[in-house]
Amino acid sequence: MTKANYHTHTYLCGHAEGLPLDYVKRAIELKLEHIGISDHGFLNEKWTGRMNIDSYENIYLRNIDEAIEKYGDSIKIFKGLELEYLDGYDDLYKRYVKELDYLILGQHIVKVNGKDQDLYKPMNDEAIIAYRDAVIKGMRTGHFKILAHPDLYMLSYLKWNDLTEKIAKDIIECAIECDVYLEINGNGTRRAATFNEKLELTWMYPRLEFWEMVSTYKNVKVIVGDDAHYIKHLHDLAVENAILLAQKLKIKLYDKIF
Ligand SMILES: [Zn+2]
Ligand SMILES: [Zn+2]
Repeated sequence: MTKANYHTHTYLCGHAEGLPLDYVKRAIELKLEHIGISDHGFLNEKWTGRMNIDSYENIYLRNIDEAIEKYGDSIKIFKGLELEYLDGYDDLYKRYVKELDYLILGQHIVKVNGKDQDLYKPMNDEAIIAYRDAVIKGMRTGHFKILAHPDLYMLSYLKWNDLTEKIAKDIIECAIECDVYLEINGNGTRRAATFNEKLELTWMYPRLEFWEMVSTYKNVKVIVGDDAHYIKHLHDLAVENAILLAQKLKIKLYDKIF
């Protein structure tokens, strides 16, 4: 088990439970040394499943401060947010960078021909290319420390082919170049596994072929993220399975990012 988790949601996004304090208490029970709170952050009014700017300013930051005040001596607590990359929000990203310890890039929506496409809906070639371009642009801004579930583009595309391989290569090489951690995501290993075309067992994400490719690079930085939406998710069996995947592929895991 690793001694840290930097991917933790709270009730504020509307599809998770708990306060920072609840996750911090559980993290202390689990003997973690670092816990990062990184709920879905606000970019615009259009998207649901994210806190609004008012909650960010008046509730989120205060809730984390309260946890630090109470438990800061027992565990290191870091302030973060999980955000999409979207053009035109540079001032807001810069503000978040200033006010927080780290940002996670978690791309769940991409623009295809001017329209928002949700990664949970069926994805075509154009959409997965748009995904690659968005996360690469995001990493290049230098605002993000972690790329969450980099292989999420496989969730609703399914078939591994030359294009998905090229996209994996581009994402991995950009992460190395921009010094961004790639995350093996615990919410992916909480889902049912399936078989790929070679009849190997894999999750939709983490996708076996993607991480096999990661394992061929020496200087890539990889962490496991719990992506906890419930307190019981912290360092649960799914997280253990994500660690086992890394071990099986001989991918070196970073325990801590600070
Ligand atoms: Zn979420
Ligand atoms: Zn998340």
